Amino acid sequence: MIKNRYYIPVVIVGAGPAGLAAALTLQKESVTCAVIDYRRENVFKPGESLAPGANFILDKLGLHKIPASGFHNTYVGNNVVWGDTMPRQRYFLNEPYGNGLHLNRVVFENQLLETAIERGISLFLNYQIKNITETPDKMFLECLSPAGNFTVIETDFILDCSGRASIVAKKSGVKRTTLDNLVSYHFMIPKPETVLKGMTYIESVADGWWYMAPVNDGKTVVNFMSDSDLHMVKPELLKDWLRQKIQQTRHFSALVSENAFDNLMHSGIKTASTSLLEVPGGDRWLAAGDALCSYDPLTSFGITNALTAGYAAAKAITGLRNGDGTAASDYLSKQMVLFNKSVAMLHNQYRQEQRWTDSPFWKRRL
Ligand SMILES: Cc1cc2nc3c(=O)[nH]c(=O)nc-3n(C[C@H](O)[C@H](O)[C@H](O)COP(=O)(O)OP(=O)(O)OC[C@H]3O[C@@H](n4cnc5c(N)ncnc54)[C@H](O)[C@@H]3O)c2cc1C
Repeated sequence: MIKNRYYIPVVIVGAGPAGLAAALTLQKESVTCAVIDYRRENVFKPGESLAPGANFILDKLGLHKIPASGFHNTYVGNNVVWGDTMPRQRYFLNEPYGNGLHLNRVVFENQLLETAIERGISLFLNYQIKNITETPDKMFLECLSPAGNFTVIETDFILDCSGRASIVAKKSGVKRTTLDNLVSYHFMIPKPETVLKGMTYIESVADGWWYMAPVNDGKTVVNFMSDSDLHMVKPELLKDWLRQKIQQTRHFSALVSENAFDNLMHSGIKTASTSLLEVPGGDRWLAAGDALCSYDPLTSFGITNALTAGYAAAKAITGLRNGDGTAASDYLSKQMVLFNKSVAMLHNQYRQEQRWTDSPFWKRRL
């Protein structure tokens, strides 16, 4: 039985960086919108190294308080072992936007949510989308509220910002093309004494690469990136497997002590493949952020892209509502130029590692 029925001109699915950037932009353009997410706040997500370029979009969204909030650390550069055994420091000295941030990701996501609430944006948190239907002039989202009430939201347009799940696209029968099988085997540990403040550490190995980033609550995020088909690791054996794997590294093994494995937090396996939607939108929907295309974490571009794409998609929706017939296609072609450029740059980056040309992980990327 229908309990609630709403009309909202634009509905955004997903309250991550893309969805909330879009909501803040639409609100500034005086377009009424609401954001639906099937989760509440305080969700752990991998991804904490926010590149310097993000400062530009944070400013544009009126989020300049976030870098200054004291919850995140300054990210000054990368310490990279790639192509040979020599660690090299690459500082963001010539970046026009200054330094980046090592985010406390849970706090960052909550800060975005709180800003949306402060600016009067409606949020439907913990709502499950059961069905999406379309008539010639409207879309309908049938949802289940946290209280178990059936809710129908009628809308003119949906922006899919649901991350890699790309739920609106999926419900419209659209598939994703995946370019690789990259996954992250990740965990958090107390911050090692020896880690240089403000640096992300990266080290390539025969079957992938490692990265480590300090976050500000005394913890360090550690990820081993490899292809899912190369390792069949059962979740219950993950800890011992990672403990063994890290011993094969030249530099990381010195940074992560043996007993750090006794205090692992948030360990798990997460898809990190480069992928994109086969069809990026329809007459009444578009995708933005990871929902449209996802980037290899080596690029450190995912969050910046999500914020920028959310902003650009909101501008495109405003354009469409004001009668600009090419607004959506202009937005999508810019997104595709960026994606193709990043794939080419990634290819160059992987090709700089020539030590293990017979290993399946590198062979696929050379
Ligand atoms: C291992 C790993 C490391 C990474 N490291 C970095 C990094 O260092 N720097 C960086 O910039 N990027 C990094 N990224 C990428 C970055 O985290 C993503 O690109 C970014 O989160 C994308 O934002 P988004 O808003 O598009 O999607 P998401 O952040 O995934 O948000 C999607 C939202 O949609 C909601 N949702 C999903 N399904 C539904 C549904 N059915 N109904 C309603 N809501 C739904 C989710 O709850 C979520 O809140 C990394 C990614 C991985 C996997």
